Amino acid sequence: MDSKALLVCDQCDLLLREVQLEPGGKALCSRCGNVLYRCQPDGLRLSLIFSLTAAALFLISNAFPIVTIDSQGLTNSTTLLDAAERLFDDGIPSIAALVFATTFLMPALEIMAMIYLLLPLHFEKLPPGFSVAFRLIHFVKPWAMIEVFMLGLLVTISKLSALASVVPNIALGSFILLMFSVTAAAANFDRRGYWERVDGIKKLQGQLC
Ligand SMILES: [Zn+2]
Repeated sequence: MDSKALLVCDQCDLLLREVQLEPGGKALCSRCGNVLYRCQPDGLRLSLIFSLTAAALFLISNAFPIVTIDSQGLTNSTTLLDAAERLFDDGIPSIAALVFATTFLMPALEIMAMIYLLLPLHFEKLPPGFSVAFRLIHFVKPWAMIEVFMLGLLVTISKLSALASVVPNIALGSFILLMFSVTAAAANFDRRGYWERVDGIKKLQGQLC
């Protein structure tokens, strides 16, 4: 059944009319095939679950060492923040700031903003300033590079293992799970469904006033 709402494909600017979808279905642009929106009845709940999981994994990932390196009797364990601090102490503050921003600050902001948006909604409440949180996610997402960090880390570990004994610690596994949790939270975040829920709560609040 056609609704009256119109939308624009963000890839080719074609003006289209929204249609209702079956659960699990997706709407494609008739010209370029771009996915316009999906019908994910449980998308917001799953996104909240993965975001909360990501928050717990983020704490574990940064509280414990990533690897322990043992070379000629010298043992060294380091966390992500220790590594950024070491870069700063070694006189390369720009790299230290980049590592801190892309692997700690931006992922933390993204996870917190997701929880800020989704947790109140789960209890039928609207978070104050939720449009700011939306913009914040849009801003920080391109700068959150846990995947790039993990790729570089795994390459470094494989090269270092030829020179020293490298023992993976709990934070390494936690970072890998964190990477999947953040991706799953974003993949299940149904923007269209979110705004529909916001409209529904606003109407309910309006009726109650
Ligand atoms: Zn299109």
